[in-house]
Amino acid sequence: MGIETPEQLDNHHHVEFFSGVLIPGLVNAHTHTELSYLQGKIPPGGGFAAFADGIGRWRSQVPEAERAAAAAFRDAKMRSEGVVAVGDICNSSFTFEHKCRSGLHYLNFIEYFGLAVTDFSATDAVAERARVMGLRWSKTPHSTYALQDRPFRTLACEGDPLSIHFMESRSEADLFEGRGPLHERNERLGLSIDFAAYGSPARRITESVPPEKNILLVHNTFVDEESVQRIEDHFTGRVTWVLCPRSNEYIEGVLPAYGLLRQCGVRIALGTDSLASNESLSPVEELKRFSGKVPLHELIRWATLGGAEALGIDDWAGSFELGKRPGAVLLTGADPLTETLRPEAVTRRIL
Ligand SMILES: [Zn+2]
Repeated sequence: MGIETPEQLDNHHHVEFFSGVLIPGLVNAHTHTELSYLQGKIPPGGGFAAFADGIGRWRSQVPEAERAAAAAFRDAKMRSEGVVAVGDICNSSFTFEHKCRSGLHYLNFIEYFGLAVTDFSATDAVAERARVMGLRWSKTPHSTYALQDRPFRTLACEGDPLSIHFMESRSEADLFEGRGPLHERNERLGLSIDFAAYGSPARRITESVPPEKNILLVHNTFVDEESVQRIEDHFTGRVTWVLCPRSNEYIEGVLPAYGLLRQCGVRIALGTDSLASNESLSPVEELKRFSGKVPLHELIRWATLGGAEALGIDDWAGSFELGKRPGAVLLTGADPLTETLRPEAVTRRIL
């Protein structure tokens, strides 16, 4: 196997021609495939707390077989569109069966949350099931606002990599100052927090997570420069800032802080988030949100190598290099001169 630029390509046997841009297999660094059954169920624009309530309401109303079928369908669709690897948040194990047979590489983030929860044995059982079934998995806290101090610190030591929802909403920072919608929601539910003394979501992370850990910070819609620097300075492991623009537009009506993150020169990857807050799990649709704002070659890197490094699979995925088997994807509808994506741009798996 090799990568070459031969003369007179059409003189060679077995050469196939494609019109478009050939890119490595795509990495969807953040989704929740088990929420695929929620497509179209939660109306857009309701804000963050209303969204969380909406998920809670629907979760119990759809039979597990139906939820598993929705996730398996999206697995197949992602594969045909050129996705090779997925960072998938898991709150239960019903997607594990089809993942054992899937052509996609999954890193299953077993997610812990619940301010009032003291017994996490149900979530521990999900992790155990992943282990028994031979899947790749890692324990992770949901966010800086959904777990009390002790379980957060314990998980920060146990999981690697961690995948933490981060600054998806302004209220995540406001919570540490005893105000905002998350604070009000806690008050309504009679919940108190024991971690406000950290002062901010970023400080909670740097003071709880050992520096050698690898970490994905997901969303970054309202992140500021001080938080980015604090986190980048703290970690010796890999830090990846994962952007899910369509989900942010759906819930909060804004784009993530991509300008700031680019300016800081940090590693960026791309996720679709779940179908509870998105119309598809297609990375190219996410990239279109940045078209004209960020050059195409950089966007492609976010959706390939950035994600592969985040999931720790850059030894085989993310770029065309000798010794790797990253898959090959045809991107059509791109304009190479202006480095933009046209609205009709799509991706299709070639290899
Ligand atoms: Zn998410």
